[in-house]
Amino acid sequence: MAFLEAFYVFFIGLCFGSFANVVIYRLPAGESFFMSRSRCPKCKNQIAWYDNIPVFAWIFLKAKCRKCKAPIAWRYPLVELLVGVFTLLAFLKFGWTWLFLEMALFFFFLVICSFIDFDHMILPDVFTLGGIVIGFALAFVMPNRTVIESLLGILVGGGGLWAVAYIYYVLRKQDGMGGGDIKLLAWVGAVLGWKAIPFVIFSASIVGSIVGLAIMSKKTKKLETVIPFGPYIAAGAIAYALVGKEIASWYFGLLIPGL
Ligand SMILES: [Zn+2]
Repeated sequence: MAFLEAFYVFFIGLCFGSFANVVIYRLPAGESFFMSRSRCPKCKNQIAWYDNIPVFAWIFLKAKCRKCKAPIAWRYPLVELLVGVFTLLAFLKFGWTWLFLEMALFFFFLVICSFIDFDHMILPDVFTLGGIVIGFALAFVMPNRTVIESLLGILVGGGGLWAVAYIYYVLRKQDGMGGGDIKLLAWVGAVLGWKAIPFVIFSASIVGSIVGLAIMSKKTKKLETVIPFGPYIAAGAIAYALVGKEIASWYFGLLIPGL
């Protein structure tokens, strides 16, 4: 039964991932999410419901449109899988609780923001600012953070990254990080509390630097390539929500034994 439950949650997550694909493509274009059914971008044929089943249809169709055989990007099932796996992990960690629901939705919106950031180098305010407000409001009822921790999270998250961006600007004389990243980290602080911020900035910087160097060595030798930072903040936030408290208490325990 436990396995069936987990699979059910995973499949619901895949369906949310399918919807995430719709939001990722339609929100920046200003299109409606609900009005029209999905169409093949090449032949414009409507996609039947059975060809829209997350991940499985993509495998069954061998990554091609049924009608025109145009290739379907692997990004679609990747987004579905990411949301599915994060939803499942949230369920395994939090069980049937309101916190599970909040974290699953938090991960869902972080995946959407990450891919919009990849494509357009923007993090929509509707998610980041909306997330700050809702994340702070839910601090009154959720068990993972106090209201003070959430408020400090907004201030430390927003302020901390603002300081990093300012130092970067002073050193490089150009903007490396957008205001969207600052709002994103404030949102993360609102949902996860201020203690999450050092871990998220640290892990995002390390992974971001490694990926950035890899991309730069491939493309140009110059440092001018702008790399979105949002996806690394999002990944750090998801990691902290799932295992960060354990890492943080181990880390603080090393610094201040007996805390
Ligand atoms: Zn087609």
